[in-house]
Amino acid sequence: MTMGAFLMDTYGERPLTLVRGQGARLYDEAGREYLDALSGIAVCGLGHAHPEIAQAICEQASQLLHCSNLYRNPLQEELAARLCALTGLERAFFANSGAEANEAALKLARLFGHRRGVKTPTVVVMEHAFHGRTLATLTATGNRKVQAGFEPLVAGFARAPFGDLEALERIAENNRNVVAVLVEPIQGEGGVRIPPPGYMAGLRALCDRQGWLLMLDEVQTGNGRTGSYYHYQQHGILPDVMTTAKGLGNGFPIGACLARGEAAELFKPGSHGSTFGGNPAACAAALAVLRILERDDLCRRAGRLGERLVAELRTHLGDLPGVVEIRGSGLMIGIELDRPCAALVAEAAARGLLVNVTAERVIRLLPPLVLSEEECARLVERLTAAVRAFLTA
Ligand SMILES: *Cc1c(COP(=O)(O)O)cnc(C)c1O
Repeated sequence: MTMGAFLMDTYGERPLTLVRGQGARLYDEAGREYLDALSGIAVCGLGHAHPEIAQAICEQASQLLHCSNLYRNPLQEELAARLCALTGLERAFFANSGAEANEAALKLARLFGHRRGVKTPTVVVMEHAFHGRTLATLTATGNRKVQAGFEPLVAGFARAPFGDLEALERIAENNRNVVAVLVEPIQGEGGVRIPPPGYMAGLRALCDRQGWLLMLDEVQTGNGRTGSYYHYQQHGILPDVMTTAKGLGNGFPIGACLARGEAAELFKPGSHGSTFGGNPAACAAALAVLRILERDDLCRRAGRLGERLVAELRTHLGDLPGVVEIRGSGLMIGIELDRPCAALVAEAAARGLLVNVTAERVIRLLPPLVLSEEECARLVERLTAAVRAFLTA
């Protein structure tokens, strides 16, 4: 029995022990090197052991790690101002994770509804969505496996097919309790699903007509991942509420819920809070992340590398029987196969490449935005070999 037996079994058997990282590379106990095409699920966008992130955290740790949200925190104020300047939103609440950021958004929707006299405010969420593992966010998630066994689920949600504006129009006609829509601009866990062109603008227009809040979950798509700071910026719209986390701290836990207009004014002293949320260490890490994203022009780099990766993957894999579609935005890329392919994770790891499989049949690539051209080529090489071996096995 290993000491792992003392852990609750939430992740099953774990195949690797990674002990060190550098940029887009990770090393296991035996010193074996892996190319990281996952970034800890879209977390370490600046790569591992980034010296400036390490320095920001170390310096803050030697000054003040935590001081409670009962006191002013200049770093939190600076981070909020920076995020608002980047997004066009007006105020921020800081949490420690994506699920918590979404909880804040869902609480805003309820306050918003009650203000309008809606007694049972309802949030529309999407099929195949993923919003987290707390009770409200697993209810918002459109995957029965995430929900099973945790009933009773939370009330106040309605479900629509992702990418379908007409279905939302029908919900608008039939459900007077709807106050908000919560949606990922690109579904991550759901299989890197990209909605049809015009969907985001259509959502914005519908929410404006209905007086609903448009709440975007950019936990995975945000922080440069898809080629802009936040994905909605590529669609010429502004949400009312946006959540983010994952890449914001490059591995230091932090989540944020941003809002504008009425939604930004709903929380009052006592209506929401967090012990750790936005503590000085987390804010120092996030400020460093945003500084480096801008200085090193990493959003643009993600867009450019992503186009190249998708093009090369299409060249090498696109025509293989078994490959259904290769799609992506920036460095958020999915390769959909016609069969379940969880075994590909080990097939790739054996070739020194770390990838993920989601929605059973989709190989998901989320490499660090700092991936070099040479690493990009190696990624294609190793993945091509792994997919070919898997499909012909
Ligand atoms: C990962 C993820 C979450 C949950 O984030 P946690 O930090 O694990 O709570 C929520 N929404 C989306 C879109 C995600 O990808």
